[in-house]
Amino acid sequence: MMTSKIIPVDPFDLVIFGITGDLARRKLIPVLYYRFIDGQIPKNSRIIGLARSELTNEQFRNQSLEALKQTVSEKDFDSEQVNHFISCIHYIKNDVNSDEDWDTLQSLLKNAPNTVQAFYLSVAPGLFAPIVEQLGRLNLAENSRLVVEKPFGHDLASAKKLQYQIGNVYKEEAIYRIDHYLGKETVQNLMALRFANKLFEPLWNSNHIDHIQITAAESLGVEGRGEYYDNIGAMRDMVQNHLLQLLCLTAMEPPYKFDADAMRDEKLKVLRALQPLMGEQALRNTVRGQYLGAPDKPGYLEECHNQGSQTETYVALKVKINSWRWAGTPFYLRTGKRLRSQMAEIVITFRSTPHSIFGQIDTPIWPNILVIRLQPDEGLNLSITTKDPGPGGFRTRETPLDMTFADNSGDDWRMPDAYERLIMDVIRGNQTLFMRDDEVEAAWQWIDPIIQAWRNSGTAPESYDSYSSGPTGAVELIARDHRRWRDVIV
Ligand code: NAD
Repeated sequence: MMTSKIIPVDPFDLVIFGITGDLARRKLIPVLYYRFIDGQIPKNSRIIGLARSELTNEQFRNQSLEALKQTVSEKDFDSEQVNHFISCIHYIKNDVNSDEDWDTLQSLLKNAPNTVQAFYLSVAPGLFAPIVEQLGRLNLAENSRLVVEKPFGHDLASAKKLQYQIGNVYKEEAIYRIDHYLGKETVQNLMALRFANKLFEPLWNSNHIDHIQITAAESLGVEGRGEYYDNIGAMRDMVQNHLLQLLCLTAMEPPYKFDADAMRDEKLKVLRALQPLMGEQALRNTVRGQYLGAPDKPGYLEECHNQGSQTETYVALKVKINSWRWAGTPFYLRTGKRLRSQMAEIVITFRSTPHSIFGQIDTPIWPNILVIRLQPDEGLNLSITTKDPGPGGFRTRETPLDMTFADNSGDDWRMPDAYERLIMDVIRGNQTLFMRDDEVEAAWQWIDPIIQAWRNSGTAPESYDSYSSGPTGAVELIARDHRRWRDVIV
């Protein structure tokens, strides 16, 4: 059984811009509550929430209570603890664009007893730079940390511009760019699997690995945010950050130690080694899709109110990494909305044995497949070929060695949300699981020409049925290499 020792962090002031928004209500407030009941948050810490609505402290605390009722499990909802937690929350009405609304925040933070101060930007990306400028103007940036939600830029030029604006006020050591996939338990377990075991690392290269698939499938569509999504698309929303980060962690060389810059240096090398996909190469190695309607659901074109939209809700890519370790092992990435299931996984398919000493009919040998499952049921699964038990001939079968983390962790164990770790890492000052500016830029540098090639081609994404596995073009993309995707089922 797993045991976890909770080490309390120092008392802190966490200022959340956009506290009345969807992310704060669904994630940030509940995850802070979970850290609180686990005894990690000292009681004199303060969560200071800002938003545009005219609300009193009392009214906002009531809203937070409602948010907790909807998101926290019955088992973990303890009224006394909830009251204590809620009393740590302070609400300030603040319109970022008005110079007048900042006095209350300034006076609350001036001479604050808590030494750790962090500002969390849970607002639309267009407000990141104006907020940071205000923090600089009010001298609140010095000695504080800045947490920036995704997306960090829309392309390379806008990411550089945003970096310039933020970098005028904050040093890189104080900037925490969130990619919540990095906070997932399995993703960190990938580091343990690769670098705390002797078993896999000698095999972790193109001599032994045939190919790698990385999938992030969503069953939901754009759900009322079609017009917003239409300016983004799956490539920017999922591939530039989450999928490329997973690819980096899977492909990187061992860092010399598990620390922020050592890790990020290695991830950056992977991003820089990605074979560029431009023009014809981009069109040949990528597939875009757009979901159609279902009997009870509108299709994407109706949801985004733009019948001519060429925005992709699905993308599949074949990616090569130009390095000694990976030359000859393609990575296939895919992500999409309104697919058959909600799942995310990394699948490592090893090469077949060079020769079978068994016959062909009853004794096939399957390639070993290691599945690193991020969602649902976080865990690892390794399939190996074993003998069918019992007398009566020698037959083989494919046997899974399954390790679902929750199954191995006792009845009381709860899978922590990625944001729990990430927010506590901000307070601890640990940047290991956050993206550095050069990583973000290298990712955009690789992504931009692909989007440009799509735009230049003037073609529309391929339609696919709602709740299917995606467009047929994606099946063909991988079939060209005599391979197939793992089924999108859970
Ligand atoms: P939202 O639209 O639900 O909330 C936005 C918040 O910003 C609200 O509290 C609103 O009052 C506040 N706000 C708007 N204009 C303001 C102004 N002029 N001055 C002060 N406050 C203002 O947005 P969200 O879904 O909570 O997303 C917040 C950020 O998190 C975005 O950058 C988004 O890309 C990112 N994000 C969200 C999710 C999610 O699941 N919602 C997931 C990943 C990343």
